[in-house]
Amino acid sequence: MKLHEYQSKDLLAKYGVVVPGGRVAKNAADAQSIAEEYGGKVVVKAQVLMGGRGKAGGVKLFDNAAEAGTFAGELIGKRLVSIQNPAGMVVEQVLVAELVDIAEEYYLSVLLDRAAQKLLVMISREGGMEIEEVAEKNPEAIVRLLVDPVWGLADFEIRDAVAKAHIPGPAQRQMVAMIKSLVRAYIESDADLIEINPVALTPEGKLLAADAKVSLDENAVFRHPEFAATAEDSAEDPLEAEAAQKGIAYVRLGGDIGIMGNGAGLVMCSLDEVNAAGGRPANFLDVGGGANAERVKTCVELVLKDENVKGLLINIFGGITRGDQVAKGILTAFEQLDVNIPVVARIDGTGAEEGLELLKGSKIVGAATMQEAAKRIVELAYA
Ligand code: GDP
Ligand code: MN
Repeated sequence: MKLHEYQSKDLLAKYGVVVPGGRVAKNAADAQSIAEEYGGKVVVKAQVLMGGRGKAGGVKLFDNAAEAGTFAGELIGKRLVSIQNPAGMVVEQVLVAELVDIAEEYYLSVLLDRAAQKLLVMISREGGMEIEEVAEKNPEAIVRLLVDPVWGLADFEIRDAVAKAHIPGPAQRQMVAMIKSLVRAYIESDADLIEINPVALTPEGKLLAADAKVSLDENAVFRHPEFAATAEDSAEDPLEAEAAQKGIAYVRLGGDIGIMGNGAGLVMCSLDEVNAAGGRPANFLDVGGGANAERVKTCVELVLKDENVKGLLINIFGGITRGDQVAKGILTAFEQLDVNIPVVARIDGTGAEEGLELLKGSKIVGAATMQEAAKRIVELAYA
């Protein structure tokens, strides 16, 4: 569960991380009045749960409160699109934060190294840009420090890593303190990622978190009732939130061919096949086992709520649930739905022949193989 930047900063501040002052606003007037508290010297930042907001035009610096308010007004309600998130997200609120004078930008994160069964702290002097880019172009600029979850870290180990990352002398002690706070916040709040990019060093030599990204382990959220409200207002994509409520594994992918199947692996293969056939998958959706009419109907309705969807591919492999039962489920579901886009269903495995036979004469085009199904839906959808 990702937290918004302002929520992440609030959480980290409780552990002693220094963060710039600021508050969230949902309209231009509120944004302007917050900006006035800082003499107009603020940064206005879209609160959307995606990376690369800066490049997407969601972060802007000001020295005038009225202009900051106007920009906030333009940003709220707008859809921001980034390379990481081509479907984009609508901005509902902005963080108006005290402008930090930045001399240097560093990178700091804590995550889980599953292979090592330890926490991993990553430190880099090359902050501000995407860490993937640093990892590719200048891998030695990232210093990695493994943390034993039981024994933790000795101060000298952290000092050593910070020096190795070439963090300048005056900032080193503050960096060590920040790392200790982050590790404690990570463990105590059951986080699965904490990332600060950039850690800002001011010309006066003060170190603070100019951005913050915290993600909590969803399986542990029940241990933190204080985040219950947060969970609600950090609802990511509205369709994904609706799916989660209904217990459906759904991920929006930004294309226009809706996809559903039984089993995560099969759905992922379907995405690849649609892609290979020249289509753009709109989503991942795992119907799960069973796939009775009611379930199929709920899933189809969900996929079609994405207005970009121009065609639907259903990929079913009959196993314990027979293909003909699924076909009946699909037919019953579509009798109750008003669907006016092409639909191709691939049914294979147990009961496949009977299943495909049942689809004949309906609006649903049957296909025996995944490749054939992908090809058909691409032809029909883009016709
Ligand atoms: P992201 O693009 O979603 O990671 O958003 P960030 O919060 O990291 O902002 C992008 C960039 O804007 C940062 O790397 C900084 O260079 C700049 N920025 C953000 N806040 C401030 C600030 O308070 N002062 C200055 N000078 N630059 C800032
Ligand atoms: Mn950032």
